[in-house]
Amino acid sequence: MLKEGQIYEGGCLCGDIRYRLTGPSLFETQCCCRDCQLATGTGHTTIVGVDRSQLKVDGEPKIYTSEGDSGGWVSRHFCGKCGGRLYTSGSMPGNVVMIQAGSLDNPSAVTPQNVIYAKEAVSWDHFDPELEVFELYAPFDDATRAAMGLDKD
Ligand SMILES: [Zn+2]
Ligand SMILES: [Zn+2]
Repeated sequence: MLKEGQIYEGGCLCGDIRYRLTGPSLFETQCCCRDCQLATGTGHTTIVGVDRSQLKVDGEPKIYTSEGDSGGWVSRHFCGKCGGRLYTSGSMPGNVVMIQAGSLDNPSAVTPQNVIYAKEAVSWDHFDPELEVFELYAPFDDATRAAMGLDKD
């Protein structure tokens, strides 16, 4: 998990877009949903959730927006030159962004907590057997929900 107050840098393959991220992460997960497969061309994507205010981007990512599984919108941010995926934002909730773990300068700083959307996982994609697996999304604990701005009246 990304540590509180620590700075993490990352960017795309060609280096046109760079970002700085301040920890901590809200969640770190492996998503096997069909949209992640199509967007990455791989079996799953590894994402790191942070508040939008923790991310500073240098450069202008291209954005592709589609409808999410639960009806809201999902915007994928990527480099228009090299195609490198950077992060995803969405309507649920709008203040959270999900960084593509592989775009970090040190991807090994990430420790996925679980596997989500396992119902759409492909047979050849294998995960750490220690990880908790959810057919759909994982429930967030109270602290994470509060940090994400959920449960607001
Ligand atoms: Zn690039
Ligand atoms: Zn997904």
